[in-house]
Formats: sequence, structure tokens, C-alpha cells
Amino acid sequence: MPHKYAVIGNPVDHSLSPAIHAEFARATGHDIAYGRVLAPLDGFRAAVLKFRDEGGSGLNVTLPFKHEAWHLSSTRSGFALAAGAVNTLAFKGGEIVGHNTDGIGLVRDLTRNLRVPVRGKRVLLMGAGGASYGVMEPTLREQPQSLVVANRTLEKAIALVGHFEKLQQYALEGIAARPYDALAGTQFDIVINATSAGLEDAMPPVPDSVFAPGALAYDMVYVKRTPFIQFAQEHGARASDGLGMLVEQAAESFFIWRGVYPETRAAIAMLRRQMQK
Ligand code: NAP
Repeated sequence: MPHKYAVIGNPVDHSLSPAIHAEFARATGHDIAYGRVLAPLDGFRAAVLKFRDEGGSGLNVTLPFKHEAWHLSSTRSGFALAAGAVNTLAFKGGEIVGHNTDGIGLVRDLTRNLRVPVRGKRVLLMGAGGASYGVMEPTLREQPQSLVVANRTLEKAIALVGHFEKLQQYALEGIAARPYDALAGTQFDIVINATSAGLEDAMPPVPDSVFAPGALAYDMVYVKRTPFIQFAQEHGARASDGLGMLVEQAAESFFIWRGVYPETRAAIAMLRRQMQK
């Protein structure tokens, strides 16, 4: 009998996670069945418990349930604790263990796949939603020079920075919240777009002067070429979408469940080919 896993969300039919985990299972020789669970917006908890009670071993959690998954977890592991959001659930005996692998996924994509170390870099993080909460701790633990958070609703950026204040010693010059219009004249080595603007063919109002020579512009959105990617390239930055992050966060989930870290290059290449069709 294969071990049962799934991605749970609403909507969930667009998720690439089944294809990614099928590739990991093939590459590692693990016998797993990975499906999709569409949970009613008011029925997340019941859907998780049903999946577990029917023999499920673990779940990936996507929008809009990552915060609810944090509350449902009986134990929160690693980066999930501070993130306040959980994207991976592992069922261990009677325990529901919650993890957040989004930040590890981002850091691995930056440092291993794109070969851009975060250590000593000036980092701009745009957005103050769930994705930003997930990546703050892993990014800070890489010891950047500085980490500035900008958001359309400034109060949310201020709250985010306040939430991670205790970790600010990891960044040499600390962390700060800024409105977009205060960024003119400041340069960054890594500019991360963690907003959902690209999904609506929009981009955050970031000045073109933010890109230091050789800067990397990273958009977490991966379903399309976003205005931010285009803007960054027009202003001399190297640009990447978030497909590598998606695959790397999935690899960390696979490791949590199966104890084996799958090779990720084949999965990234497979998805790139699929998206070009
Ligand atoms: P969220 O909680 O809904 O937050 C959305 C953020 O985007 C907020 O900060 C919001 O600003 C900002 N925003 C939205 N439209 C904007 C616009 N037109 N101009 C400026 N800012 C705008 O979403 P999330 O969970 O953080 O996810 C953000 C994005 O990351 C999504 O597109 C998601 O698909 C992607 N993501 C990718 C991965 C991956 O593996 N690649 C993992 C996680 C998330 P306000 O606060 O002002 O509303």
C-alpha cells in the first residue's frame, strides 16, 4: 500500500504539487500516492482529520489555510513557530506536526540553484502577507547585511518587522519597514517580490533605482512572466521567478515525510517544459 499524501486548499485544482511529488517519488523509488483535497472554506479542520483518519500520512497546505493549519498543529516545528503559518503537516501517532518550508525553499533556490548567497547582501522584501512571514526567519538566518520590508499597506510591514524583531541581530544592519516611495536612492543586491501583484499583471510601486549593479530580482509568482520581472530586466537586474522556490519547498516537505532529500533539478526542468507548452 502506498503512503498517502495530498495538497489541501481552496481552490486546489491548479496546484503543481502532485506533479512535483510524483517526480520525487519516481526519483527516490518511494511508493507514495499524492492527491488533491478541496476543503470547504469553513471545513479545513474536518477535511484534515478525515484525511488522516483514512490513513493519510501528511498534507501540504496552500491558500487560504496556512494560518488555520498553524492553529490546528499540536506541535510546530522549526520555522513554523515564528512564521505563524504552516504549509506542511505530518501525522505522527496522535500528533499533528506543523512545518513551514516556504522560507527554506526560497533560500535554497537563491543560494543553490541561482548561486546567489544572501550572506552580507542588502535585501529588499516586498509584501507583508503570509509568504513574507514564512521567509523572514530563514532569510535572516543567512545573515544578510540588511533586510528592508516594503508594503503597500505600511502598517502591515511595520507589524511584520515588529514580529521578527528578536531575530534582527542576524542582519548586520538590522531590519526595517519602509514605504515604497522612501526607497528611492537606496540600492539592494536582492529584491524579492513576495506580493501577489503579478497574478493581476500589476507590480508594487518600487523605484527603478533599487537595483544595485548585478542585483537579483526574484518574483515568488511562477505562473507567468510578471510586470516586475520585465521591469527588473529593463533596469539591468538578473531576474528569476518562484518556480525553484516551489520545488525546493516541496523537497523539504518530502524530506520531512520520507527522510530522504530528493534531487530537485529534474522536477524544476519538468515543470519549465510543461509551462512552455
Ligand atoms: P497574501 O497574504 O495575500 O499577501 C499579498 C501581499 O501582496 C500583501 O502584502 C499585499 O499588500 C501585496 N499586494 C497585492 N497586490 C498588490 C499590488 N497591486 N501592489 C502592491 N502590493 C500588492 O499572499 P501571500 O500568501 O503572501 O503570497 C504572495 C505571493 O507569493 C502569491 O502570489 C503566492 O502565489 C506567492 N507564493 C509563492 C510561493 C512559491 O513557492 N513560489 C510560496 C508562497 C507564496 P497589502 O498588504 O497592501 O494588501
